[in-house]
Amino acid sequence: MIWDIPALLNTAGFTQNQLYENNVAGHFNYRWEDIAAALGMGNLPAESYYLGRFLIFDDQGDKQKLIELITMEAHSLAETNDWQLENVSLEQLALLACEELKVMSVCGYCNGLGFNRTGEDCNPCLGYGWKGYTEKEKYQFIGVNGKSWYRRWQLRYTDILNYLGGAAYHLREHLEQQLC
Ligand SMILES: [Zn+2]
Repeated sequence: MIWDIPALLNTAGFTQNQLYENNVAGHFNYRWEDIAAALGMGNLPAESYYLGRFLIFDDQGDKQKLIELITMEAHSLAETNDWQLENVSLEQLALLACEELKVMSVCGYCNGLGFNRTGEDCNPCLGYGWKGYTEKEKYQFIGVNGKSWYRRWQLRYTDILNYLGGAAYHLREHLEQQLC
């Protein structure tokens, strides 16, 4: 699921070579009104809808909605998997994911796949398929130390990204269907 994020960013024009100018994905060959209308059509899951609006229109209200949805998912993951939260706010973890989406660029070495030609994890992007924050930036953002990050939170954050990857998959499919 996580690989759907660079795929979506590629679709939206967030590639390394084509970084959008003003933090807005302006590389769709469609009018923004058409994209906005396409997002509102059919049965797009809420997280995909707000992810799309946040990525494409960079709207603060949509970002807030997306953070709420991710936070809910994080609470549900925490309950299911019995996470010890230490002092971490799950909303801050959700915010981290949103902020990282905005600085992500698709890895030019593996083109977002996360692995190289021999099937091993891509070195430059550590298998993520994109470049975003460093591990240190991430654990400082949620207020834990490196030890706690690598032992617990890194994997939990991957769960959050997988959730967003699922949303990205539906969003990409939806836009391709509606806009073709
Ligand atoms: Zn890579």
